[in-house]
Amino acid sequence: MKKLHIIATGGTIACVPSPNGLVPGLGAKELLEYVPGGHKIEYTDLFHMDSSNIQPEEWQQMAKAVIKARESCSGIVITHGTDTMAYTASMLSFMLRDIDIPVVLTGSQYPIVRPDSDGRKNLHNAIIAASELTGGVYIAFGDAVIKGCRAVKTRTTSLNAFESINYPYIGAVANGGFISFVRPEPRKEFSCFIDIDPRVALIKLIPGTSPAFLESVASCGIKGVVVEAFGLGGVHNFRRDHAMSLKKLIDEDIPVVLTSQCLYEASSPDIYEVSHTLRDSGVISAADMTTEAAVTKLMWVLGHTHDMDKVRQMMARDYCGEINPDRVM
Ligand code: ASP
Repeated sequence: MKKLHIIATGGTIACVPSPNGLVPGLGAKELLEYVPGGHKIEYTDLFHMDSSNIQPEEWQQMAKAVIKARESCSGIVITHGTDTMAYTASMLSFMLRDIDIPVVLTGSQYPIVRPDSDGRKNLHNAIIAASELTGGVYIAFGDAVIKGCRAVKTRTTSLNAFESINYPYIGAVANGGFISFVRPEPRKEFSCFIDIDPRVALIKLIPGTSPAFLESVASCGIKGVVVEAFGLGGVHNFRRDHAMSLKKLIDEDIPVVLTSQCLYEASSPDIYEVSHTLRDSGVISAADMTTEAAVTKLMWVLGHTHDMDKVRQMMARDYCGEINPDRVM
């Protein structure tokens, strides 16, 4: 039996009612009372936060808490709000690259104190997954176990809130047991890097987005931009010239990563005439990465280097299963 450690950070799973709405109030010890055998598990109460307030500083604290807990356990469960869990799971996948123990994030759509809450099952399933999985960062939610850097929250209230995007589900928990859907990958050496540069912006284009708005990020101290373009990577090149604005950012040494507003399948700026100038201007394709992975990877890469060529190379490389290099065109 593996020795596990729970790191509690808040989220709906830990919420109790307050006059102003639900607020995270329970710590790990109280959460574990809802799980069979939970009292034997060691824990850390890191935060009591709604995940809407989780930011790069909290990611760093979570990574440090994982490193500390890893000294005395062989599997970690992090309880976390669902709203930004996919960002945290992606960032921890980069910060704790090739970690040799499983780090499984979970939470719930309804507070664990409610008799009909999904929190009890989710926490139990995450504990089972952390007992069975090999190293890596994962989300266990509902019955599904998803690679952390491939998870996206796709539903606001349903119990199957997360999907695995452009990557097979890692497994499922059913009848108290873990069923693996993939072969464990060969393990590489664990490396930890938490000095990220969070000065990254995400811009979702809409019909009519002003070029001046795109260019304005430079004056806000932004050092890297992820652009959610239309479909395969389309932008305006008529009346309003997005490609020209993005080129201006690149000329100011601000890398621009192009991703799609479509959730599934890869983006590529190489297919349509509307985006053909993007490639020449040096835009980096996010290929099949989720937006959450693209944003957190860019912060992590910019923590290593601001050299445009190196940023480009690192964004195209696969570090933890976040990108299929064959889809990088
Ligand atoms: N607002 C909550 C949070 O993200 C939602 C949840 O946990 O489901 O912390």
